[in-house]
Amino acid sequence: MNPSVREQMDVLRELVVVDEEIRKLDQELGKEREALETVKNDLARVRTAIERQRGEYEQLEADRGARIQEARVLQQQLERSRDKLNRARNEKETNAVQRELEETRKLLRDVEDAVGKRVIELDELRKGVLEGEDQEAQFTARIGQAEGAASAKLQEIEKQRGDRAAERSVVAKRLPPGLLRKYDQIRAKRQTGAARLEGGRCKACNMHLPPQLATRIVRCDVLDQCPSCNRLLFVDAASPSVPPQG
Ligand SMILES: [Zn+2]
Repeated sequence: MNPSVREQMDVLRELVVVDEEIRKLDQELGKEREALETVKNDLARVRTAIERQRGEYEQLEADRGARIQEARVLQQQLERSRDKLNRARNEKETNAVQRELEETRKLLRDVEDAVGKRVIELDELRKGVLEGEDQEAQFTARIGQAEGAASAKLQEIEKQRGDRAAERSVVAKRLPPGLLRKYDQIRAKRQTGAARLEGGRCKACNMHLPPQLATRIVRCDVLDQCPSCNRLLFVDAASPSVPPQG
């Protein structure tokens, strides 16, 4: 048994554990960030809908104002026509002014109808806006809570991740740089950089090792890779195949 091989295997075993914890924390972080994004998008959507309704309301109100103005002008026109009627000097003039009066009255009726319709539309739209604002308030409160919870959870996970990363760098320093590089390269490809050798098999890919190689690894004579998945192989110190040290 080679003591430095034994030591390196112990470090690899610790690294695998801490790296798996970091990987899971990263997954959780991804999920939490996504959840937070969803919640923010929901709020943005509700706000956009309300803005649109308010815009419609303002437009209708402006239209109603324009129609009321139009009605005033027509009223004035009616007044003038009535004056003209009083001053009419003969039947021909009277008839002409009466036709004018008829037309103006008809226009006025149409405009007043339009104003009436706008009032009804505005009433309905106002109800819609109020409901929307109510919904927005509820949504904002709910989203505020969800956002707060998500942010708190994010911070907590980020802190855990920071702690694990610090722990990892302490463990990793105990490996020779070349070996750490190799481990990280394998990990980048295969998610884990090292695997336990147990019962002559690589526990990661389940492949049986050539018996001679397995024996040398179990004895900690050599630090080697799985011929199938390339992961670095380690055995537990308390493995029954290895007699206790000392
Ligand atoms: Zn393997």
